[in-house]
Amino acid sequence: MHDIIDRHHKIALQLSGGKDSLACLWLMKPYWDRLTVYWCNTGDAFPETIAVMEQIRAMVPHFVEIAGNQPAVIAQFGIPTDILPASATPMGVANGGVPMQDRYSCCLRSFMLPMHQRMLEDGITLIIRGQKNADALKGPLRSGDVDGGIEYLFPIEDWSARQVMDYLRQENAPIPRFYEVLDEAPDCMTCSAWWEKGAAKYLKRYHGGAYQEVQARLETIRVVVDGSIAHFNDEVRA
Ligand code: SF4
Repeated sequence: MHDIIDRHHKIALQLSGGKDSLACLWLMKPYWDRLTVYWCNTGDAFPETIAVMEQIRAMVPHFVEIAGNQPAVIAQFGIPTDILPASATPMGVANGGVPMQDRYSCCLRSFMLPMHQRMLEDGITLIIRGQKNADALKGPLRSGDVDGGIEYLFPIEDWSARQVMDYLRQENAPIPRFYEVLDEAPDCMTCSAWWEKGAAKYLKRYHGGAYQEVQARLETIRVVVDGSIAHFNDEVRA
């Protein structure tokens, strides 16, 4: 770890607000003076996430908040969904469909690209993240890989989910309330995708207004998807 840190002068530790990135931040405590903590606020962050970030901002020597643009992205490209019918793509919309976008495009446009752009602007040469090898969904890069002139370091890549929570409790780190109900922290309050995260039950319990908004979006998706599924079933059974 020390050797990698010593090779770099512009180091970013990227926080999402999830438990893995928090564990990563705490593990890197001996190096806090050498790195900058970056958090991209999606523009629709949970107050729970904002509260944790305020605590961290007051704790670390260098903290940068990047402005994400989820509301503008949804206004331009449509609500995010995990099932995208052809009628919701730009060509379909030009012919009367309801605009929607897949969840990865929405996340990329809303906060991943603003984060990456800031890395380039700040001349970052080492990016540290809380990615684990056990994660079902992870990027292709591993510790030590260099991509586009930037080296990557994943200090907890060999940890299990259980180890992460045990470590955070042992360190008295600020654990967001999400984890009473969810396995993962949602990035946006009004997200209508990432269904497997099960955020609706958390919203219903703690954020009634956002819950209603998401339910209305899900209903829009249901109507459009049902139409495509009906055509699909006709084809399959023909
Ligand atoms: S979490 Fe959902 S709403 Fe937020 S950027 Fe990603 S897909 Fe879009």
